[in-house]
Formats: sequence, structure tokens, C-alpha cells
Amino acid sequence: MSDVLLYNGRVLTQATPDVATAVAVRDGRIASVGASADLLRSVNGRAKRIDLGGRTVVPGFNDAHAHVWKIGHLLTSMLDLRRVTSIDAVVDAVRRFADRAPDAAWVLGRGYNEAAMRERRAPTRADLDRASPHVPVVLTRTCGHIIAVNSAALARAGIAAETAAPVGGVIERDERGEPTGLLHETAMGLISRVVPPPTAGDYQAMIVAALRHQLSLGITSSSDCGVSPPLLSVYRAADANGALPARVNVMPLRRVDGVPAPVPLPERYLSDMLRVDTIKFLADGGLSGATAALSVNYRHTPHKGVLRFDRDELEGLCRETHDAGWRLATHAIGDAAIDQMLGIYEGLGAHPRGLAHRIEHFGLPSAQQLARAAALRVIAAPQAIFIRSLGRNFRSYLPDALLPRAYPIRAMLDAGVRVALSSDAPVVEDDNPLAGMQAAITRRDDEGHAIAPEQAITVAEALRAYTVGGAVASGDEANRGTIEPGKWADLAVLSANPLTADPDALPDIHVDITIVAGDVVYER
Ligand SMILES: [Zn+2]
Repeated sequence: MSDVLLYNGRVLTQATPDVATAVAVRDGRIASVGASADLLRSVNGRAKRIDLGGRTVVPGFNDAHAHVWKIGHLLTSMLDLRRVTSIDAVVDAVRRFADRAPDAAWVLGRGYNEAAMRERRAPTRADLDRASPHVPVVLTRTCGHIIAVNSAALARAGIAAETAAPVGGVIERDERGEPTGLLHETAMGLISRVVPPPTAGDYQAMIVAALRHQLSLGITSSSDCGVSPPLLSVYRAADANGALPARVNVMPLRRVDGVPAPVPLPERYLSDMLRVDTIKFLADGGLSGATAALSVNYRHTPHKGVLRFDRDELEGLCRETHDAGWRLATHAIGDAAIDQMLGIYEGLGAHPRGLAHRIEHFGLPSAQQLARAAALRVIAAPQAIFIRSLGRNFRSYLPDALLPRAYPIRAMLDAGVRVALSSDAPVVEDDNPLAGMQAAITRRDDEGHAIAPEQAITVAEALRAYTVGGAVASGDEANRGTIEPGKWADLAVLSANPLTADPDALPDIHVDITIVAGDVVYER
């Protein structure tokens, strides 16, 4: 950890004073923030000096809700289908991928979105059988809540016409009752339990690849929202070996699809690079795939989505987890799921460690639900970037009454709910925080349609939600989120000032340098 002085820039501290021109780093932490002339005079001679040349410094971004290992899976060994726009292209991609790895026991892919396909439908077993008649294929929908599999995969899992779906899951069937290859929510576990899991070495490669990718976007604090026990062991070992290049907030699961019994609580663990003090639950599915649990039917199909849990079971697990001193982070998108979660949180009483619980995504809260969340001090982790990347799904699938309150970030802030913006990557491909800020400000989707434009927030609010917001959501605002003496020197040097940029040009701002604990870990 070298001493560093960044000077001659515009330091957006997110604290008081809000702007400075220099920041000095000692022993991995911020030593002082102030005027370049003063800091240049006082810094010791061995310090590395970085002339910012007028560029902007912000606190390292915090992606409060992401799936690090899944980002890394796509970066290392998984077939990426996030840009595919037709069924034939899916079939081609699977065939080519299988040809390239003829010894692979399974073909795993991710990222299709039927709303982005010419045919406006998901691939089925028949399509995937064309691509791979013998090797099992599992394609995860972009949301991670639906999979499309071929006949070989159904056979390996023993799924046939007579197979019943587990609680909180759906096996789609054709008119003859045969599985179509599409499995929703907990029914995905019927497949995942027979897919060979990654090795510890595979997992570590995925984690490092993903964190390095995020560092190139200025993200110095990330999150892995939903990890299984073997992956948690890999994180612990990587932290012990100093192998984590960025800070990660890892959230173990207590319910893993395909595993019958709840996972016991692991050991709480906090180090400089790794936090394990939050348990993730999933109350419902996703909006873009119409599995989020609504109070009314979706527009395009006569159903209301999926509540994944029997309420009593979820309440019991939440109470045990809360009483043991953990923070809860529950995925709840539809208003029915949000209602279930707020009811459960309201029944828990005071937290033994004084922690505030989180609601992930928080996609369709009503005004009354926002007030209940604020009263509970709930922290929300929504994704403005969904508006841009998945807006066309929302416009097609959401009833008129619900579309105006899709990801209502303005209303969250106005209700007094603390907000941490995030990407949920790899659910969306573009996990650049500046693109997320742009979406929060413009509320426009990929096709230029505005979605609930009155829910726009300001660029200053968006920057705060991507820095301080994430620090609060991880419970570590004492060490990160602002540029103040004593906090970790986790910084991003930007090519331009986002506060004065044209909102449409925000994603064009480059991250020139990323610094973690005073070390330059990325340079463009
Ligand atoms: Zn997620």
C-alpha cells in the first residue's frame, strides 16, 4: 500500500465540503481531502503523485445487487445469449458452442429474452433438440427465474408428463401434458440438482474475472446476492489468500432450488475485502419474465406470477435468521411479494444488532407499501437499468395501472426509503454504473420510450445511490461510500464530471483509473 496523492482535479466527496481538488492516501485509507496546493506541500516525498489534469474523482462505485459468480460464469465458460434476437440464432449458438466443446457433459447458456426475439417466444425443448439431440442443454432466461432445456436434460432429471412441480415452481406443458422444456422458479431445481457443479477452481476463476471486469467500470465494492455453501467456501478461501481484487458483500442463501432442506446458517464473517452478514431470500420471480407476484393478472397472460415460498416457511426462516443477528435481503418485485415481505418484516420486531433489512429490486411498491417500508427503515436495492434494458418487457407485460409505478425511485426517495442503485448483472449485460445513472435520470428504454418519467431522480441523487447508498445497504458506511479522512481509499477517476454531463452522454464517460485501498488496480 503506497502513499498516493491525487491532485489538480475535481473530487466529488459525497460529504462536506462536497468538492475538493486533491485527495491524499496513506496506508490504504484517505488521509486528507482539500486543495491541491496545500496537499502537495504536506505530502511526503515518496508518495505516488497522480496529476488528474482536471478530471473527476468519485468514491468507488458500489454495485449493491449483482451476482458476481454468474457474471464470471459468462466471462469464463458459459454461452452468452444476451444479444440473440431469434430462435434460429439460439439454435445456431448452442450448436456452435457444443461443437467447440465436444467433451462437455452439459451445455450451459444464459441471457435469452423472448421479448427481444423476432418470434416473441422462448426456445423450447424441440428447438434445443435440433441444436443438441444428445448432450443436455440448459439455457437460463435473462432474469435467472426461468430455464429452457432440451429433451436430454429433461431425461437426465427424470422430468416427464407425470412429474409434479415443487411448491413455488411451474413445469410448462403442451396440450398433451408433455413438458415443453420451460421450467419456472423452484422447478428449475429439478434440473440444477443434476447439473455437475463448478469446481472450487472454476468458482475462483469466475469471481476474479467478474471483479476485474467491475473494476474496469470503477466498481470497487460489489455483491454476490445468493450464494450456495460451496461458493461461500471459495470466497472465504479467496479472502484468506488475498485473492479478492475488490470488496464483495456475499449473501448466502438458506433456500437453494433443488435442495429439499433449508441450508443452516453459516458463520458471520467480516473482513476488509469480504462481508458475510446478510442472508438472501427470494419471495417471487422477475417482472421481465412475468414470474414476479402481482396482485392482478399480467397484461399478456391470465396469471399473477409466482410466490416462491409457503408464507409460514418463509416467516420462520426469516425469524430464525433475524434473531441470530443477520441482515435479511429479500428479493420482492411484484406488489403481492412486497406485501408478503413487509408483513413478515413488520412481525420481526427490533433487530438484535440494530441492522436494517433490505428489499431487493422493490419493483412495484404502492404508495402505502412505500410508507410501510420507510417506517421499517427498509433499505431498497432497485435497478434503474432495468428500465432501459427490460423496458420493452414491462410495456408488453404490465397492466396499465402498474406500469407508472415500475421501479419508482423518485417515490422511494420521497417516502424516505434509503436507496442503493445496482445492476443485478448478469440479468442485464450493461452493468456500467454510469449507464444505470443515466437510466435513473432519463427513464427511457432501449427503444426510446419513457417509462414512468415522473419517477426520474437527479444525477446527484443517482451518484449518491451508487456510492453512499451501497455503503449503507452493506452496513459499512463507516469505511466506504464517501471521500473523507479515515475511509478506505477506494476511488474512481472519471474522464468527465457526471454532475454536469448531458445525461445521454453519461455512459460515454470513461473510467480512467480505479483505486482500491490506495492501489491502482485498473488503468484505461
Ligand atoms: Zn439478483
